[in-house]
Amino acid sequence: MPELPEVETVARQLDPLIAGRRVRRARLLDRRLGKPPVASLLGHRVERVFRLGKQVAFELSRRGRSRFMAVHLRMTGRLIWQDGRRRVEDQHLRACFDLDGGRLLFFDTRRFGTIAVVDALEEVAPSGVDPLSAELTPEALAELLRGSRQAIKAWLLRQDRLVGLGNIYVCEILFQAGVAPDRAAGRLRRRAVERLHRATRDVLTRAIESCGTTFSDFQDARGLTGSYQRYLTVYAREGEPCPACGRAVRRIVQQQRSTFYCPGCQR
Ligand SMILES: [Zn+2]
Repeated sequence: MPELPEVETVARQLDPLIAGRRVRRARLLDRRLGKPPVASLLGHRVERVFRLGKQVAFELSRRGRSRFMAVHLRMTGRLIWQDGRRRVEDQHLRACFDLDGGRLLFFDTRRFGTIAVVDALEEVAPSGVDPLSAELTPEALAELLRGSRQAIKAWLLRQDRLVGLGNIYVCEILFQAGVAPDRAAGRLRRRAVERLHRATRDVLTRAIESCGTTFSDFQDARGLTGSYQRYLTVYAREGEPCPACGRAVRRIVQQQRSTFYCPGCQR
């Protein structure tokens, strides 16, 4: 499932490929997408592609007026730029945008992905804070955590506080921060919150540098897989020695999801 780094990867790759191109044709090929007004984008120029929470967002403009398209990849969505030199299969194609010199294709095997077309970005902005935004200082994180009795692992996964963190990165962040996954979120001391803040930025930034993590079927805008899985320290490593202290990595289940952690390093 694409998490924040995978979505960032797709947005960063698409931006230089399609910015400046005009929309010539827009087609929705799956009724389940509903009726986002994609036809209203005809003649619009792509100004930029960026990440908005876990969505790939497109700013388009025509005669000085901006509109936005936000694509949520969910489980298996993929956005691929096809510039004519490379053939792409048509299976699971749900939407197709003809731009100058190529096509932007939206593939999605499980069909949970969504497309929205709006006038103002606020209409599709997530409610949670973006963990890579300047807004998220250690103080702001402490404020968000305050009073919560939820286990920190579960807290980090809620999308209404911090947006975009999923199971893989949360396990890695907690390991790097040295925080046990079952600690009450609101009970973390100042130092632990600071470590958590730093680890969140570090893990996400490194994952973006590696173009994301590929476990099942994530592919970036070039149709390639990410490489961050090579750097995972605890995720999916139950029983293997912790890279820091050598104790066996443990797996527990929290909210029906596996949590991997080191009982020696995470307190
Ligand atoms: Zn350890």
